[in-house]
Amino acid sequence: MAAMFKAIAKQVHAMTVALARALTAQGPPGRLEALSLIRSTVTVPSGVKPLVGVSLDETTTHEDLVQLIDVFAQATPQAQYLASTTGASGAGRAELSTAAAEAATLSALPAGLVRTSAILTHPVFNTYHSETEMLRYIRHLESKDLSLCNAMIPLGSCTMKLNATVEMIPVTWPEFGNVHPFAPAHQAQGYATLIQELEYALAECTGFARVSLQPNSGAQGEYAGLRVIRAHHAANGEAHRDVCLIPVSAHGTNPASAAMAGMRVVAVACDAKGNLDLADLKAKAEKHAKELACIMVTYPSTFGVFEDGIKQVCEIVHANGGQVYLDGANLNAQIGICRPGDYGADVCHLNLHKTFCIPHGGGGPGVGPIGVAAHLAPYLPGHPLRPDISSAQAMGPVAAAPYGSASILPISWAYIKLMGASGLRSATATAILNANYLKARLEGAYKVLYANEAGMCAHEFIVDARPFSAVGIEAVDIAKRLHDYGFHSPTMSWPVANTLMIEPTESESLAELDRFADAMLAIREEIRRIETGAWPKENNPLVNAPHPASVVLADNWDRPYTRTEAAFPVPGLRERKFWPTVARVDDAFGDKHLVCTCPSVEEMAEA
Ligand SMILES: *Cc1c(COP(=O)(O)O)cnc(C)c1O
Repeated sequence: MAAMFKAIAKQVHAMTVALARALTAQGPPGRLEALSLIRSTVTVPSGVKPLVGVSLDETTTHEDLVQLIDVFAQATPQAQYLASTTGASGAGRAELSTAAAEAATLSALPAGLVRTSAILTHPVFNTYHSETEMLRYIRHLESKDLSLCNAMIPLGSCTMKLNATVEMIPVTWPEFGNVHPFAPAHQAQGYATLIQELEYALAECTGFARVSLQPNSGAQGEYAGLRVIRAHHAANGEAHRDVCLIPVSAHGTNPASAAMAGMRVVAVACDAKGNLDLADLKAKAEKHAKELACIMVTYPSTFGVFEDGIKQVCEIVHANGGQVYLDGANLNAQIGICRPGDYGADVCHLNLHKTFCIPHGGGGPGVGPIGVAAHLAPYLPGHPLRPDISSAQAMGPVAAAPYGSASILPISWAYIKLMGASGLRSATATAILNANYLKARLEGAYKVLYANEAGMCAHEFIVDARPFSAVGIEAVDIAKRLHDYGFHSPTMSWPVANTLMIEPTESESLAELDRFADAMLAIREEIRRIETGAWPKENNPLVNAPHPASVVLADNWDRPYTRTEAAFPVPGLRERKFWPTVARVDDAFGDKHLVCTCPSVEEMAEA
């Protein structure tokens, strides 16, 4: 593998040197000169824009270079004149042929910088040499990962719904995947149509006048939305408005984005039922009326409840001169049923990588578009290379590309087209129904925090683990024990410490919901055996979870519960078992003490 990378690097570099020499030879003198040459990039001054950069890679062919030289030959009036009188780019082509003949030795790297030490000596880079071996290695890694292929991922506030194959396939098409973000508009007309239709659909879903697809994540959407609000205040001669009200229950990104946007955060209390404390809100909004920029509010709340007071929240903030930023990351409980623009919000972001089927986890890529009411539309992020999509009052870009992570937009576009209006609404209804079904099955065995007046949750709900602290059981023990039952853990200790937040989504069948509920109820019975003293607090299936095969099948077994109770606590697991790879690790210790699983530095040095 090391040899292959070296060969690629040498080839690319040699091609780059050859191109630079050819462009310089081609002239006309003083006009076209390869300025700098960094590994694989040539930078040339051009008549039109100050600089043009050309980057080559291992797929570049000699024929590509010839075409490039011909393009540069047409780039300046002088060159065009020369080309017309002397034949196209003769000097450049000739130099290219000479350089190509020397390709093996061609280098512009200073001798002192050439690497002499070995690279990629770790065995993993030098073990899998055939496709068979590589296939098995990759498949082995995959088998350690409990994904939606195995079971539901009930990760509250994260909406781990189906990423349908039909939605994902177009991402692999070069027509979407190989279009450069700055490709000339006439080469990206299909993209333009798709983007326009998606913007329209999202505006329709949110009740807003305009949508920007530029932000690459929910947090980036928050930042963009808050900057839009600041621009609006500035345009009204109120640039000093910088106070951002945020409920204590907010997602961590909210205060972080407010700080990034140059705002001062003022916290608003929540009442015992998890609702925003309207009296506290009114007091804070009035106290800061002269400097109030906005509120950032999440609906349904991060506690998984549709708050009855949401309209009043918007009214109070508006009455005191502020704007309403709605955190719509979890639009999965709203589409087709209610719209932020209708109940009083001025801006909201939505996470296409939650509600609109883009797979997520591992940090992206995501899309966190913002929708805004008409009075804020002029300030949406523009882009210096796309004046056609930037209004005169547009703020600067929040992402490098005009449409952010455009290549994954076909996923959300396909989802919306396949579902249609009625399908989207029934998905929302099913997501809410599934959450309430699970809540009803678990209630009684567990304490469920927060519900509205009618006793209902939205698309997610929170299960309390604090009552089990007396017998030494914490949320983390239930979360890890779920691995033995073949499930991914729910969201842990957020937004309330020592609780589990469960979101089933509309993608899960009744059978899968029941499988999960059965697991949770069985775990509750296990906790009861600790409560009654049948199992000791410090040695039971929960605190020892998860149980990998190596532990369950070890010659020694000296635990106060059986191997069957450890690995097959419910019968269905005998047929369908996901074996955890490792037993319990001390998370906090592990997070603070990183251990490299590669050979030690000493071993590497010796080898
Ligand atoms: C996920 C989420 C966010 C942040 O989205 P990212 O794409 O992770 O930046 C913000 N608010 C809420 C309520 C969320 O659930």
